[in-house]
Order: sequence, then structure tokens, then C-alpha cells
Amino acid sequence: MPVLDQLLAALAGGSVEIVDLTAPLSDRTPILRLPEPFANTVPFSLREISRYDDRGPAWYWNDITTGEHVGTHFDAPVHWATGRDGEDVAQVPAGRLVAPAVVLDASEHAAADPDFLLEIEHVRAWEEAHGPLPDGGWLLYRTGWDARSADAEAFLNADENGSHAPGISPECARWLAEETPLLGLGVETVGTDAGGAHAFDPPFPCHSYFLGAGKYGLTQLQNLSRLPARGAVLVAAPLPIVGGSGSPARVLALVER
Ligand code: MN
Repeated sequence: MPVLDQLLAALAGGSVEIVDLTAPLSDRTPILRLPEPFANTVPFSLREISRYDDRGPAWYWNDITTGEHVGTHFDAPVHWATGRDGEDVAQVPAGRLVAPAVVLDASEHAAADPDFLLEIEHVRAWEEAHGPLPDGGWLLYRTGWDARSADAEAFLNADENGSHAPGISPECARWLAEETPLLGLGVETVGTDAGGAHAFDPPFPCHSYFLGAGKYGLTQLQNLSRLPARGAVLVAAPLPIVGGSGSPARVLALVER
């Protein structure tokens, strides 16, 4: 049987499941908040054009307003100064949007310490248990933060010192971006970097190293707990915004049951 027919049969029979990793997109979707003097994104919003009324008797439609980096979204290399000569989101080859994914679960660490940072030793331990990081694939970093995603205050978890949300140490970010064959990094938090990463050296190291290496980011993922440590296939579908630095994305995982 042709391989795509096999896939369709597996989907129909339930031996391959589609897991939606995308957060619902609404005016309540949490967004990044940068401190003064930096500019911030607008949230997502809908504005009704017509709804089966005088403005359009048989149809319902809306205009949308959104930042590129709102909700579950894709970071293209050009998003960061280190990747300024790299791809914008419309230039990312479609063939790179379907790729293997592995899941590293640090949710117990993050539950104990909201400022938890993943280190190289944690990734080495994961590789000991599950094999090498996938060539041309995603590292999905599970922290349990998706459980907070319906509540912007809990999601950002900020106090007078700023946001407390888990991330990756600068040393580990550099190693993952520059010395492993990964395609990109996916996270459950509002951005790929830790809540306190503005104070790291370099600031926002995941953005700096991954995008500087021509790799990608995915944020505000959910349902990573439903994926195996390895073996999932990820479909990440940002809009091809010409010249754009990123885009809200639908992110789906194919998982063999
Ligand atoms: Mn982003």
C-alpha cells in the first residue's frame, strides 16, 4: 500500500492520532510583556464585519488584529538581531515545517522552582534514556506551564522582579543551537526564553543562539504530556507573512498509538 494510504488508514483506525499542540487564540490569550522602555505587541482581537445582518445577510466574518508573536506562534530567524540576515517567516521552506519531535519533560523541576533552567547535563541524561536528539527535528521542552495558559497572571507569574517562568541556561542554549542537529526549540511558555532571561548573558539566549543559527522557535505549546519522548511528527504551520518575523501557528503532532 502506498505510504500515504497507509497513513490515512492508520488515522482512520486510530493507530496514528493527531494531537493539537495549539492554544486557543482569543483576546484572553496571554502575551509577552516587556518592561519600559521597550515597545510591546498588541493582543489578539476580533472585529465583526457582518453576522447574517444588514451588513451581510447570509454571512458572518471578522477582521482580526494580532501581533506576529501572540499565542502559539513561530519565531523565524530574522526575529532576532543575531539572525537578521536569515529567513523571514515566509521564506522558511515548507519542507522544514513537517519534522520529527522529541519531548524532554522537566515539569517536576519547574513545579519545584519556577525559575528552573535546563542545563546540558539534563539533555545528556535524556539522550542516555532516549537516544540522540533528532537531526532536523524539534526539541519540545515540557515544563507543565501549559496548565497555566488560560490565566495570563499565572502564565507570566510576575512579581516586582519580573516574570518567573522556566527556561534554558545560556550555556545549554548555545550548545543546543550550535552543536546539535536540531531544527528548533518548542516551549510551553510565552517565549522560548526563561522569564528572567533579560538579565542573562547574553540576554534571551535561546532567541540569540537558535535564531542566530538559522533555527526556529515555537511557543505556548500545550498537550506535550500526550506525546512520547520520541517518535512524534510535528506539523508547524505559520502564515507566510511576507517579511514577517514570526506568525501565529497551528501546531499538530502525529503520534503512533
Ligand atoms: Mn516569538
